[in-house]
Amino acid sequence: MSYIIGNKCIGEKDGSCMEVCPIDDCIVEGETSMYINPDSCINCGACLYECPVEAIYDSEEDAIKYGELEAVHKNYEFFGFKFKQ
Ligand code: SF4
Repeated sequence: MSYIIGNKCIGEKDGSCMEVCPIDDCIVEGETSMYINPDSCINCGACLYECPVEAIYDSEEDAIKYGELEAVHKNYEFFGFKFKQ
């Protein structure tokens, strides 16, 4: 399980999440969005309340529940992983 950055980040990329994440290189800036490395995230929740556009979900399940399956796949693929449901 990992935190997931959804599509609200596209065009925003505020970056506050990166500043509070305690794990180096866990949140990475992509071309259009930030991404969370599912292999590094320790589910601490620090990023969740920092995002000004509420783009972050506390699990893949929650992201999918809100219609962000594509964002889940993008977060995984950005780091070379495949999301398996
Ligand atoms: Fe980083 Fe914690 Fe957010 Fe995971 S939940 S991305 S470890 S701040």
